[in-house]
Amino acid sequence: MVVKKNTDNVVYVEKIENEPYFPLKTCDYRFDQRNEMFKRRTWDEEFVEHGNRLYLDAKYDNSRYGYRKLDYALRNAAWNIEYGYAFGNMKSNFGLYSWDHVPAKAERFVKKGSRVENSKEVNAKIIKKAAGFLGADDVGICYAHPSLIYSHEMDLVKNEHRRLELPKGCTNVIVMAIAMDYEATRYSPDAIAGATTGLGYSQQAVVANYVAAFIRGLGYTAVPSGNDTAVSIPLAMAAGLGELGRMGLLIHPEFGPRVRLCKVFTDMPLQHDDFRPFGVEQFCKTCKKCARHCPSKSISFDDEITQTKGPSISNHSGVLKWYINPEKCFMFWVKNWVDCNNCVMVCPFNKPAGLLHDVVRYTIKSIPIMNRLMLLMDDFMGYGKFIKQENKCFWED
Ligand code: SF4
Ligand code: SF4
Repeated sequence: MVVKKNTDNVVYVEKIENEPYFPLKTCDYRFDQRNEMFKRRTWDEEFVEHGNRLYLDAKYDNSRYGYRKLDYALRNAAWNIEYGYAFGNMKSNFGLYSWDHVPAKAERFVKKGSRVENSKEVNAKIIKKAAGFLGADDVGICYAHPSLIYSHEMDLVKNEHRRLELPKGCTNVIVMAIAMDYEATRYSPDAIAGATTGLGYSQQAVVANYVAAFIRGLGYTAVPSGNDTAVSIPLAMAAGLGELGRMGLLIHPEFGPRVRLCKVFTDMPLQHDDFRPFGVEQFCKTCKKCARHCPSKSISFDDEITQTKGPSISNHSGVLKWYINPEKCFMFWVKNWVDCNNCVMVCPFNKPAGLLHDVVRYTIKSIPIMNRLMLLMDDFMGYGKFIKQENKCFWED
């Protein structure tokens, strides 16, 4: 990779000879994590106070179902591993996401002996088997395209902004999906739905840590990562885990947008997967359900994808896609005193497992002319209906 820096601190990426195949169009620059919406709350005067309200000052209200101390206790318990031991939302290379930590008892296995050598096809098969066993709900592999590695990270623990580079040779990335609980997301946007988000973050930290330990045990370098280090969604798409939805999230063929993503970068030779679209973009043109149900009006209603630039510095601009407004979305979270999952919840691709839903997914992929009918059926069947705690309390189910 050749990088050049210009005066405004943007790190551009130049194409290299014989670059490994990457199935998606990419930007010509690396995104600075400082500009990510959740990092701006630490330095952007417009958002510091709001960020403090959401993260430091969130208050429960015992008179509101879903926002009571009880509900927040579950939500906070679900985040406990991420907040206490992983820090994937705070910085890279730390806690469960440490790039080189090997527990003393495992050192003799990791540091002695040679690498386990196999073909890249066999290695990929082994990694997928191990990752599934260790807790990943789906696994894909692709080239770690340089444009998708953050140019700089914003370390919220030390409050430092610094250049980021992966260890030399870590050009492959294993991307793993962790499914979130279907029923709990139906309580969005309250703290019970927030608990399933937190649980996803905690679980993905553990899974990424396990998989990195497994790769080190085979003699290779492994860099586990949550939301730190690189932009997850395009890597997940290139690794065959799904397509981008109108609301800016990955739509997985089985779980829809109800997944969290973690990844492990490695120098282990691995066979890559490929992008596997299954009709999402076409369906989104008709659907717009997420845009209609977004309380902050952050999601585009445009019929066609015509934009290569988002409305703020927090958008990863540069490629054609539907852009959301991250500032408006964040401000709703602040007002709501907990994160929101409305767009995840209403998406017709967010369904529990079942034969009927497999048939619907097949129809969307193979017969797009039926999309409008599929959408009508989705509404008719009552999918995408929020549960009000007053009517069906999570705790009394
Ligand atoms: S998380 Fe909520 S506020 Fe943000 S885009 Fe989705 S629906 Fe809108
Ligand atoms: S809710 Fe509809 S428009 Fe939004 S991402 Fe899902 S399928 Fe696409």
